[in-house]
Amino acid sequence: MPGCVYLLHFDRPYHHAQHWLAATGRPLPDVLAALRAGLIPDGSGRRREGGLLAAVHRAGITLHLADVWETATEADAWQLLKQIKRQGHRGPAICSICSPGTTRGDVSSPRRKRQRERIA
Ligand SMILES: [Zn+2]
Repeated sequence: MPGCVYLLHFDRPYHHAQHWLAATGRPLPDVLAALRAGLIPDGSGRRREGGLLAAVHRAGITLHLADVWETATEADAWQLLKQIKRQGHRGPAICSICSPGTTRGDVSSPRRKRQRERIA
């Protein structure tokens, strides 16, 4: 089953955070629906991060889906997530909303989709 890494952009910072990067093996529309419902994004026990999104939303900050990197499998998605974090690619550098036209975040092989969607 395919997976993906997805990047959410907040339209203004919440404390020091303005991005949220996660991996999933679930279909993205399901993940986004769960996010909208205020649930944990992927059921992997990352409650605190899901809690962050809920807090961001409660603060009246709009969440956008900024970028999606598609992978062949869910395991690849988690691997890619680790790789991105290990390379220190964080937030603005890989976000196509913050850095239009940037290629700095185009990490190796996975196909990156420029996908924009307002989450909440
Ligand atoms: Zn951004």
